Amino acid sequence: MRQGFKQKNIVIIGAGFSGILCAQRLEKKTARLKNISITLIDKNPYFTMRTEIHAAATGRGKPEGITYDLAETFADSPNVSFFQDEVTDIDFENKVVKGNVNDYTYDYLVIAAGSRPNFFGIESAQENALPFWTYDDAMALKKHIKECFEKAAPLADEEEQKKLLTFCVVGAGLTGVELAGELAEYIPMMCVKYKLPQGLTRVLCIDAAARTIPNLPNKVSTTCSCILKELGVDLEMNAKVVEVKPDALVYEQIGKTVTVPSCTVVWSAGITSETITCKAAETLDSRNNRIVNLESLQSSDPNVFVIGDNMYYVAKGKEHPVPQMVENTEQSSVLAADNIADLITGKEAKRVYKPAMHGCMISLGAKKGIACLCRYRQPVHDPAAVPSGAACQAGDQRLLPVTGLRSRKSASHREA
Ligand SMILES: Cc1cc2nc3c(=O)[nH]c(=O)nc-3n(C[C@H](O)[C@H](O)[C@H](O)COP(=O)(O)OP(=O)(O)OC[C@H]3O[C@@H](n4cnc5c(N)ncnc54)[C@H](O)[C@@H]3O)c2cc1C
Repeated sequence: MRQGFKQKNIVIIGAGFSGILCAQRLEKKTARLKNISITLIDKNPYFTMRTEIHAAATGRGKPEGITYDLAETFADSPNVSFFQDEVTDIDFENKVVKGNVNDYTYDYLVIAAGSRPNFFGIESAQENALPFWTYDDAMALKKHIKECFEKAAPLADEEEQKKLLTFCVVGAGLTGVELAGELAEYIPMMCVKYKLPQGLTRVLCIDAAARTIPNLPNKVSTTCSCILKELGVDLEMNAKVVEVKPDALVYEQIGKTVTVPSCTVVWSAGITSETITCKAAETLDSRNNRIVNLESLQSSDPNVFVIGDNMYYVAKGKEHPVPQMVENTEQSSVLAADNIADLITGKEAKRVYKPAMHGCMISLGAKKGIACLCRYRQPVHDPAAVPSGAACQAGDQRLLPVTGLRSRKSASHREA
């Protein structure tokens, strides 16, 4: 231990993509300093690979393949302690994070609590739609689909069967179209298993926007919509959900009210920050429940850093905040950790966050997908969070309709 070096406590709220990477990077950067304590807190004992939950919900890949035990992940990290606890409050003045189980004092705090579904104040959606964000949501959807088929199989009434076998996805953004693509492959397999004609089923994806994945360029939307239609998904655009009933979805489209009898409405229409971040946003500078960062990724409180989905950071020369996507979580967690390590060793937090997004890939079922690539190492174009047209300048990105694509982590094998 260095003479006179006081113990420094770093607390990280959230062990998602960014929290884990930040803890690992901090551990590496402070390896030579013995008196460092890194506390990583998550309400779950496991990390969820969110990017794969739509596959796990529809029988592609094993559910246990998308969760990783956090205590095990950090078992060989002497400076990192993982605590399963739900953070309920932060006392910024006294530098204490309050959980259901413990209180945690900090010198530096990292907020990395991620997002949750946004129901935009539609109460009936909150009550009756299935959210789609967590591992539990994915498993609940899988169980629900199975129950719908089990109920439909012995029925004689075709209308009742159709109601049970109509699967609606609200939201045609990245998450919505990916889920719709998976469902379009999964539902026919379930028909075979339960000996039901495919004609009784329907996969519907609806959005208030005029086109699918409206934050990406037109060409990407068009390709995406074509692939989904080929897979058998019904797309309803310019359709604004007004009510979700236990057995129907009601939307307005071009002045008409449409009611779709359906026992399954999955909500992937938008996200907002997790509750603890919304609470922190009442004290720290914030925009739309995301916390505004300085270039160093510090918030308006210099002892508090914000990374991943929770950050509201507009890179120099850009108009829009960084996208709530994994690439931003990776880059922000590294920079925040490096700046914290500098502060601990008496330097200034001088590093400036310059995100460089490479694009995104959209999987539409096990075999098809689209890659939307920004030019390598170009500064962020925020492909997921900016209005169409502004996302990528001509020549900045290439569009690759990819067939035969295999997702990174899940195989194309699917079980009904
Ligand atoms: C179906 C789906 C598909 C996606 N696909 C892609 C994709 O293909 N590419 C891409 O780039 N992005 C994708 N995303 C978005 C991506 O998952 C997020 O951008 C990323 O997870 C954000 O990382 P994060 O670390 O900020 O938050 P998260 O990974 O969400 O982690 C936050 C953690 O904080 C914990 N937490 C929250 N509140 C508390 C509390 N009060 N106390 C303790 N712990 C708490 C949570 O349990 C969680 O573990 C997808 C998301 C979904 C849902």
